[in-house]
Amino acid sequence: MTILLDGKIVRDSVAGELKNKILGLEKKLKLAILQVGNKEESNKYIEQKKLFAEKIGAEVIHVRFSEDVSQEKICAEIQKLNGDASVHGIIVQLPLPETLDKNLIIQNIDPIKDVDGLTSANTKLLWKNEKGHVPATARGILTLLDYYKIEIKGKKVVVVGRSQLVGKPVALSFLNRDAIVIVCHRGTSSIMSETKQADILVVAAGNPEFITKDFVREGQVVVDVGINVKKSEHQSEEILHKKVVGDVNFAEVSPIVSAISPVPGGVGPMTVLSLFQNLLDAYIMIEEK
Ligand code: NAD
Repeated sequence: MTILLDGKIVRDSVAGELKNKILGLEKKLKLAILQVGNKEESNKYIEQKKLFAEKIGAEVIHVRFSEDVSQEKICAEIQKLNGDASVHGIIVQLPLPETLDKNLIIQNIDPIKDVDGLTSANTKLLWKNEKGHVPATARGILTLLDYYKIEIKGKKVVVVGRSQLVGKPVALSFLNRDAIVIVCHRGTSSIMSETKQADILVVAAGNPEFITKDFVREGQVVVDVGINVKKSEHQSEEILHKKVVGDVNFAEVSPIVSAISPVPGGVGPMTVLSLFQNLLDAYIMIEEK
């Protein structure tokens, strides 16, 4: 029978331990979220983070800028938060408007408070397999597999997607756990033959349900990172039905493989959990400094 890698169960289980640790801290654990504009998707993700924070006893400050804010103003706010001893983590909700230089803005975050793990200091630590903040999705995937006792060392892991936010950190995280890693992307000509070789297949392409039964074989573990909003076939102008699907065609693939994460309810909840695990790590690093 196929095992469902249920991110909600794992999140709730680990959240209990996280809450106990947070309750034992001297100071309130605090995350600052910087948002530019008022994108519906971003609002939804921020809301999820706020709800989770409330559940585990952490605090979130939400700093919202208008769409036409200057880069200097955002950087000045980050500098202020870097110097604020009551704040342990700072994240910039992505995506930012095209007019802003995302990389330049993120580099302003103190690496210890960079709980999204996106500054070059943290990227370098991940590259060197040294202690730092690993991007939340990558950390979440490993926590999910560990929870289900899925072995990583020595396994062939195929990652589809090589973005800075997901694909590359995921590939490096597996490499750091002694897996054999292959990364596929839009330039890969024979994706199917690569994905079929995997013991663990991680898909982060942003391409709705493109991994069909032809890409997999029996015995594989499939982790679907994709979050794609698909319009319902019954969509009419009056009623908008939106359905969230992954990059994997769950109905086709799940009967074949040995374990699979669903969308929604797989990697998504793990990403939120991992952000707050990073935040707790930041608190400890700040205290130890
Ligand atoms: P991205 O667009 O930055 O990168 C996509 C990558 O996939 C690129 O490297 C591209 O080359 C590759 N790709 C796209 N189509 C492909 C194809 N047909 N064959 C091979 N490679 C292909 O996206 P991203 O930020 O890495 O996000 C990927 C997906 O993961 C999106 O659906 C996003 O919404 C989702 N996501 C989920 C979480 C979560 O917590 N579950 C977190 C972040 C992103």
